Amino acid sequence: QRNIAVMTSGGDAPGMNANVRAIVRSAINKNCRVFAVHEGYSGLVNGGPEYIREMKWVDVRGWLNMGGTNIGTARCKEFRERWGRLKACKNMIEAGIDALIVCGGDGSLTGADLFRAEWPDLIKELLDKKDITEETYHTYKHLNICGTVGSIDNDMSGTDATIGAFSSLDRICHAIDYIDATANSHQRAFVIEVMGRHCGWLALMAAIATSADYVFIPEKPTSVDEWSDHMCEAVSQHRARGKRKTIVVVAEGAISSNLTPITCEDVKKVLVDRLGLDTRVTTLGHVQRGGPAVAFDRFLATLQGVAAVDAVLEGTPETPSPMIGIAENKIVRRTLVDAVKLTKSVAKAIEDKDFEKAISLRDSEFHE
Ligand code: ADP
Repeated sequence: QRNIAVMTSGGDAPGMNANVRAIVRSAINKNCRVFAVHEGYSGLVNGGPEYIREMKWVDVRGWLNMGGTNIGTARCKEFRERWGRLKACKNMIEAGIDALIVCGGDGSLTGADLFRAEWPDLIKELLDKKDITEETYHTYKHLNICGTVGSIDNDMSGTDATIGAFSSLDRICHAIDYIDATANSHQRAFVIEVMGRHCGWLALMAAIATSADYVFIPEKPTSVDEWSDHMCEAVSQHRARGKRKTIVVVAEGAISSNLTPITCEDVKKVLVDRLGLDTRVTTLGHVQRGGPAVAFDRFLATLQGVAAVDAVLEGTPETPSPMIGIAENKIVRRTLVDAVKLTKSVAKAIEDKDFEKAISLRDSEFHE
């Protein structure tokens, strides 16, 4: 029997609540006690009953479809420091927790991975300082950690989909459908900014799903001349065939090949100056995160919650910490450290503007 804690961390994503619900109920089903850590890593660093609360079956009733995260999330500077993680270690032991499931993005899972790697050192320090007894030391010597990936960006390696990405995509598509109606009526052009600083998944999928005229993503920079010509040609062709509206989707991290950002205003200026289109800019912003989880995210979060509890129960000191993903429609268990490392390599390649490497790394992901 274990005492499992669950936490949501980093950017909120629809489906996090469904994940917490599945973890709570699955853990109870397997005769474990389960605790919610509130406000992400801040809850671990602050500790105590205000932040670490036991969850019962009925506490998560109605959570399956809810957006956001009911146990709160936060960005926690202290957890990036060793002293913060030492406090978190002590608080967890005081609450009697011996396994932790973190639902978050690549930052949160990097933190989880580091915490687990450091744990033997942290707990030894508590023993040396006589903060804990020898017996407690032996009981809590090994920490079992598991990650589930909650992020609207779909930017984590080792999984085909992150919890929340399809809800966000759905919200973006609905928003563009609404804009379509007014664009069509007035024969206008709309330049729409969507989320995605380092990953163009949302922008690309939304552009395909709404038959947008053009899309800008961080992974495919082009020179200003090149994209201006290319976009104007595409838009003119579509207009010549009788299309009354123009939709251009811009990921917030889109860049041109001289590495300067491509902003919606840049795109608007080209559409106005070169094609004379009546053009408006719409930044979708946080509506992309809100609202209930779509069916796929409810399903994904639920199956992954069950798999996460199984993973911590089966974990041994010798097995590396797992991350739960989905690959080719199957729920899979990955090695957390590998998934984090690959995600960082992709991000680094994008930062270095080595886009071919980034794409080949993404394509190579864990394909056995
Ligand atoms: P996301 O999980 O959505 O990528 P962040 O990158 O903001 O979000 O990470 C969320 C939290 O995870 C941070 O506020 C911090 O507490 C923790 N974290 C992130 N990176 C690290 C790291 N390298 N070491 C320790 N903790 C980290």
